[in-house]
Amino acid sequence: MTATSLVAALQQLIGTNHVLTDPADMAPFLREERGTYESWALAVARPDTVEDVAAIVKACAQANVSIVPQGGNTGLVGGAVSRGDQIILSLGRMNRLRAIDPANRALTVEAGCTLARIQTAAEEAGLHFPLSMASEGSCQIGGNLSTNAGGTAVLRYGNAKEFVLGLEVVLADGQIWNGLKALRKDNTGYDLKQLFLGSEGTLGIITAASLKMYAKPRETVTALLGIASPAAALRLLARLQDASGDQVTGFEMMARSSLDFVLRHIPGTQDPLSAAYPWYLLAEMTTSRADAGLEALMERELASAIEEGLAEDGVIAASLSQREKLWKLRESIPEAQKHEGGSLKHDISVPISAIPEFLDRATRVVEALIPGIRPCPFGHVGDGNLHYNLTQPMGMDKQAYLANRERVSQTVHDIVQNLGGSFSAEHGVGLLKLPDMARYKSDVERDLLKRLKQAIDPGHLFNPGKVVE
Ligand SMILES: Cc1cc2nc3c(=O)[nH]c(=O)nc-3n(C[C@H](O)[C@H](O)[C@H](O)COP(=O)(O)OP(=O)(O)OC[C@H]3O[C@@H](n4cnc5c(N)ncnc54)[C@H](O)[C@@H]3O)c2cc1C
Repeated sequence: MTATSLVAALQQLIGTNHVLTDPADMAPFLREERGTYESWALAVARPDTVEDVAAIVKACAQANVSIVPQGGNTGLVGGAVSRGDQIILSLGRMNRLRAIDPANRALTVEAGCTLARIQTAAEEAGLHFPLSMASEGSCQIGGNLSTNAGGTAVLRYGNAKEFVLGLEVVLADGQIWNGLKALRKDNTGYDLKQLFLGSEGTLGIITAASLKMYAKPRETVTALLGIASPAAALRLLARLQDASGDQVTGFEMMARSSLDFVLRHIPGTQDPLSAAYPWYLLAEMTTSRADAGLEALMERELASAIEEGLAEDGVIAASLSQREKLWKLRESIPEAQKHEGGSLKHDISVPISAIPEFLDRATRVVEALIPGIRPCPFGHVGDGNLHYNLTQPMGMDKQAYLANRERVSQTVHDIVQNLGGSFSAEHGVGLLKLPDMARYKSDVERDLLKRLKQAIDPGHLFNPGKVVE
């Protein structure tokens, strides 16, 4: 089968309307979130059922045309970018809630359900699905699981893969693996679902998942604190975890420079405290107990932290709208940064205890490399995960600044490696981090990854050229 006859065959299989070839129709699927990569494809196929997916996979294998699986297309490392004679397989139409079992605290959803929809479904069942991130209105659970996404509640609940009880996956030979058992215990050999979680569409197409739900939070308390240093943040984290019995759900840190960008560029935002401090913490505690007194606990801890000089000042959200305003300050940073010119971004993790040393070393080195560079780090400090973003010096040409990407990133990632960290904490590898895989993964790790790919997708049908070369 030729590439042209493949498109006709796919139209035959799932209907002409669901195989897009018109450039205007394909445009949203070819857009790349950060504008780093150009994407082009033979067609975008939009299946409705797992059987459709299996049929598309078989047809593509026969035509020797590779497939790029795509969810909400919000990924940040170019994993859903298609590069030529490929088919983008968009899961968006497969968005059904297949089953919900509150007594088992589990639900089964199709891969194209948005994260927000799953949160709502859990809520309506009187329970809670804790995976949460700023892209939740458009990212899809298939994409979340394929990137093993993190988000704002990892500290308490873990990454996306922690929520998975079972998966349904279409394999490279078109077989459907139904592994949708909703069991919390099942030690019957290799845990196959783990292969596909975080594999960024290179081993199989996730079509559905059975997911855990949790007790609904009945009390949430959110505080924003001004602090002097990242070292103070670590001490405050330990203190809040101890005092609350591990009820800290979110613990986000941002540099004043990041907050300045938000205040300058995002309408409706206000400086939350009466003076400026070098660093800010957004600390959130939640509990499913109705009478836990978390707010009083936060007030007490905040007051004594200020008294002891651990925190400089702080505010506790008194209403849902105040809580949303505080989170907006944190979640608007990437958008605000765009207005300040070019940005070199790093999604790194180090052991939590090494955060202060990382910031100190990395900032000294990048300031020496590019005088005037403006670091604006922020992130999930409670998970040891920072978005170490570096904004261009004022007045510098954007392209000239971005041309430094390789040497700056390598310098930052060398420090991360030296501290026992990871060059990609939560966004994955995709296309963007391939050079880092070559530089930082050991020969043994790279060899194992290649052997797995070869065993499961020998024809390199799924997302070739991503994650493993
Ligand atoms: C504003 C914003 C905030 C964000 N915040 C966070 C955050 O806090 N934490 C975080 O971890 N990420 C964050 N991200 C990144 C992104 O939202 C996540 O990586 C998300 O999990 C991607 O889901 P998606 O459906 O958009 O996947 P896509 O971008 O469509 O795809 C991502 C990868 O998964 C593969 N894939 C997608 N669906 C499937 C499937 N069904 N089967 C097999 N492979 C598949 C693709 O081929 C690609 O390699 C953010 C992004 C934005 C734009």
